Amino acid sequence: MNVQKLMSELEKKHPGEREYLQAVHEVLESIEEIYNQHPEFESAKIIERLVEPDRSFTYRVAWVDDEGTVQVNLAYRFQFNNAIGPYKGGLRFHPSVTPSILKFLGFEQTFKNALTTLPMGGAKGGSDFNPKGKSDGEIMRFCQAFMTELWRVIGPQTDVPAGDIGVGGREIGYLYGMYRKLAQENTGVLTGKSLTWGGSLIRPEATGFGGIYFVEAMLATRKTNFKGKTVSVSGFGNVAWGAALKATEKGAKVIALSGPDGYIFDEAGMTQEKIAYMLDLRNSNQDVVAPYATKFPGAKFVAGKKPWEVKVDIALPCATQNELNGDDAQTLLKNGVMCVGEISNMGCTPEAIAAFIKAKILYAPGKAVNAGGVATSGLEMSQNSMKLSWSAEEVDAKLQSIMHSIHVACVEHGTGKDGFINYVNGANIAGFMKVAKAMVEQGV
Ligand code: GLU
Repeated sequence: MNVQKLMSELEKKHPGEREYLQAVHEVLESIEEIYNQHPEFESAKIIERLVEPDRSFTYRVAWVDDEGTVQVNLAYRFQFNNAIGPYKGGLRFHPSVTPSILKFLGFEQTFKNALTTLPMGGAKGGSDFNPKGKSDGEIMRFCQAFMTELWRVIGPQTDVPAGDIGVGGREIGYLYGMYRKLAQENTGVLTGKSLTWGGSLIRPEATGFGGIYFVEAMLATRKTNFKGKTVSVSGFGNVAWGAALKATEKGAKVIALSGPDGYIFDEAGMTQEKIAYMLDLRNSNQDVVAPYATKFPGAKFVAGKKPWEVKVDIALPCATQNELNGDDAQTLLKNGVMCVGEISNMGCTPEAIAAFIKAKILYAPGKAVNAGGVATSGLEMSQNSMKLSWSAEEVDAKLQSIMHSIHVACVEHGTGKDGFINYVNGANIAGFMKVAKAMVEQGV
């Protein structure tokens, strides 16, 4: 494989698709060596096949807002690879959504899902619809209109969407309601459902909880743990609250947490009560960060800044791609950070990742650290197929064991001669090998 040549060919085919090219480049660099030891990968053109989705859908969504005005959005589903199981991956509703962003997410999802040990292929979808400030009725009408096209190409055995940024339990409900009517079947095509109609316990908190289980395993490689460590977290969407809660339960002190307009600095650290207060605000679609600083004495709101300027032991990006750049990495390193666990997808820029690896601190990428979300979606699919529900303890135990397996796979494939664990290589190689072998075995 010649990474440079492959990348320049891809750039010509997909000009300007920055995030997508960034994600592909990172994976190709990691797997180059092992790929070249497997001539069967080259003859089956595995890379050329993996970097393009199996198929993609683009469609227009028209819906009516509360003023009676017709609104038009663009929507997409990228079905990347189903070599090891049905297409699986979330839906993102955010004004920044472009094909480049959804393709990077779908490409990453293929390897992430392979890492979970469960039979799931990779996909991603979404829309440039902005849920912020929309009424409940508007959200429902948009979700219904979005599903009137999507339902044709998904199904419990073919493609199982879930949530992502802007898509939580409420949106999954409206999407599922419309799917059920159109497809005339009710066997669990979406994951992240409510408990009374096929959802799994622990799914809402799974991405954050799983991230903390993974980081705990990383810390154990340096013979330490969360107790007494200071932590910063970005975002308070579907992911960050679970991470903040589990880190707190494990004895860490979460002292910084950000929203879109700045961050909260709370030297005393967050408690379960403080996190529950934020969750209530979030669940009623209110801003979280500024009210927190008003309510809890000692906490302050730092407007317009990222939480990465705060001195902490552990940093957990939980918001969106490229949210932690090279300068942020230098600031964290200067302040003595020892571990960065990316719970968002591709949360760190290539410059930030290079700085962490050069400094030999513990750093692991989203496709390993945040895999607990989709893994628990896989457990929801298993429960739906078996027509039963596991207890919270059962799901949590399975989640812990999956995160442990992912960590073992990363260590196996990522440990260098000097003993340093390069989790980027570990996750990319372990995920890639599984998918590539399946593709070779199944023929062209
Ligand atoms: N959006 C989540 C992810 O990035 C979850 C996907 C799923 O549960 O299918 O992995």
